[in-house]
Amino acid sequence: MKRFIPILLLIISIIITSCKADERKTTVSFFSMDTYMSIDAYGDSSEAAQKAKNRVLELEKLFSATDANSEIYAINSGNFGSVSPETLELTGFAVEMSKKTGGALDPTIYPILREWGFTTGEYRVPDSETLSELLKNVGIENVKLNGNSISLGEGVMIDLGAVAKGYASEECAKILRENCVASALINLGGNIQLVGSRPDGEPWRIGVADPLEPLDDKNVGILSVTDCAVVTSGNYQRFFIENDTVYGHIIDPKTGIPVNNDLLSVTVIANDGTLCDALSTALFVMGYEKAERYWRDNRDFEAVFITKNNTVCVTSGIYQNFELSEYFDFELVEIK
Ligand code: ADP
Ligand code: MG
Repeated sequence: MKRFIPILLLIISIIITSCKADERKTTVSFFSMDTYMSIDAYGDSSEAAQKAKNRVLELEKLFSATDANSEIYAINSGNFGSVSPETLELTGFAVEMSKKTGGALDPTIYPILREWGFTTGEYRVPDSETLSELLKNVGIENVKLNGNSISLGEGVMIDLGAVAKGYASEECAKILRENCVASALINLGGNIQLVGSRPDGEPWRIGVADPLEPLDDKNVGILSVTDCAVVTSGNYQRFFIENDTVYGHIIDPKTGIPVNNDLLSVTVIANDGTLCDALSTALFVMGYEKAERYWRDNRDFEAVFITKNNTVCVTSGIYQNFELSEYFDFELVEIK
């Protein structure tokens, strides 16, 4: 028995000390998926954070619509092909969410996105004939998944840009958890994924950016949250201006034109980062009324809507965790 006591003590001490965060912080910063990313992980986490970064780079190689070596590029070029489980899973998810959101999210928007120059930065406003021609090939019914293959209709191309960062952040969180990291903040270009709480046990304080002054690093308010994802979409992040009109990178698949409705931004909060990413884009496309109805009908997420009517509308499940900034004089409304 004496022999076993030290072993027992060792096991107990491993259990007690394992996966506990402390203030030691590892920050890994990098550029991927066309944006700046960072992973702040606490405790004994440097190896895990590096692994998580490598996973994002790996996923970018699969999902990029512009990299001639990616799986999505191959499918877009040949209209058919077998793909990795990851590409299959994310494409399948995007297809499901497209159906669920009535086509507000639609990965087949890619040829139109290209026409506007959002993939190259050579922006232009396409003429309406070009848009109506391209719109004929937009629609999720043109994407079929069969076994481990994806096939696209003639002239159809897909882009996973609206969901890829959410998927990547989920993967990062999984890797960190598997490697016993109990506290981390993953920021993939504004897509936030949280592991646990802050190392001091307090909730994280995540700013919701001011869509009217995005360059000022000002926040409309702060969300106090734990162990979830927080993802914002708006047309203030990537846009160009022509003849005093602002054209942003989120496109209404019904018209082929950048979204210009009553919303300035949508922030979605839920456990699943991929869902948050899909929904923030889709709800932004829908406009406030439809988006609010979507929340009432589903209630598997929470949201902060910033509208052009100078209101910040926060769903009831997260309302208590949201604090409006003093300087921001929009009206705060709870959606019940
Ligand atoms: P960000 O990538 O800036 O975080 P989103 O998650 O909202 O923002 O995704 C926007 C990206 O999704 C665009 O850059 C484009 O690649 C793609 N996209 C634009 N409009 C749509 C749409 N209606 N459905 C699906 N994807 C879209
Ligand atoms: Mg998105």
